[in-house]
Parts: sequence; structure tokens; C-alpha cells
Amino acid sequence: MTMERTLSILKPDAVEKNKIGEIIAMLEGASLRPIAIKRTRLTRAQAEGFYAVHRERKFFGELVEFMTRGPVVLMVLEGENAITRYREIMGATDPAKAAEGTVRKKYASSIGENAVHGSDAPETAKFEIGWFFAGSELG
Ligand code: ADP
Ligand code: MG
Repeated sequence: MTMERTLSILKPDAVEKNKIGEIIAMLEGASLRPIAIKRTRLTRAQAEGFYAVHRERKFFGELVEFMTRGPVVLMVLEGENAITRYREIMGATDPAKAAEGTVRKKYASSIGENAVHGSDAPETAKFEIGWFFAGSELG
């Protein structure tokens, strides 16, 4: 087991539904510890840069519109195997395919408006944490 950090976003749909606390409670219940939290509204440049790997996908414009339409909650989660375990708790990208008891099964509306983001590998976690947090913000 390795102690890891991963980047979590509670997306605009989750914040609109007022589910910040319920989702954080699910994460804490799974021993994922939020070590940095901020609520903010992403700029277009922040959203485009964050999702740059998806720039050529046909849903990219829609994704950037969605991610900038209202506030999000950005968090760094820490725990044993946090990257993989958080992805498991999130559930599949498409809520129709997400397992029972996952965050997306409970709170996602569609494949686009799917409540949460989580890093998918150690390298992406490092990039994504650095995209939104300064080293001095991580306790
Ligand atoms: P994940 O967030 O599960 O890692 P991806 O990295 O494949 O999923 O996609 C990033 C985000 O882009 C998704 O969480 C979702 O918000 C959006 N997205 C993915 N696929 C689609 C799609 N087919 N149509 C609309 N939005 C999509
Ligand atoms: Mg992804």
C-alpha cells in the first residue's frame, strides 16, 4: 500500500444540487482525507488547460461550458492507494454504467454532468494538483 494524493473536483452540477457535504462524507467514510479544499468558479482558461488532453474530443466545448457555468469545489484527497480507490468510489464516467453505492450512481445526471472528477494515474494527479494548488496550500 502506498500513501497517495489525488485531485478531486465536485463539479458544477453537484454544487448546484447542494451535495458538497454528502459527497465529502462519502469520501471521508472511505478513509480519503481532504487535505486542501477550495470553492471557486473556474475560468475558461483554467478549464481548457485542465482538460487539455481532451481538446480534440467532440465533447470538449460542451465540457468547458459545463465546468465554467457555476462554482466547483477543488480538493486534494490523501489516503492509501487514493488514486484508484477514489476512482472506484466515483463510479463509471457514464452514470448508467456506474455501480450501486458510487458517487456518480447517486448524484450524476448524465455522462457529461457526472458530479465528480478524479485523477486517473500518479502523473496526472501530480499535474492536476499543481494546476490548482500551490505547495504551501497542502497540509
Ligand atoms: P472521467 O471523468 O471518468 O475520467 P474522461 O476523462 O473520459 O472521464 O472524460 C472527462 C469528462 O468529460 C467526463 O467526466 C465528462 O464530464 C466528460 N465526458 C466524457 N465523455 C463524454 C461524452 N461522451 N459526452 C459528454 N461529456 C463527456
Ligand atoms: Mg479522466
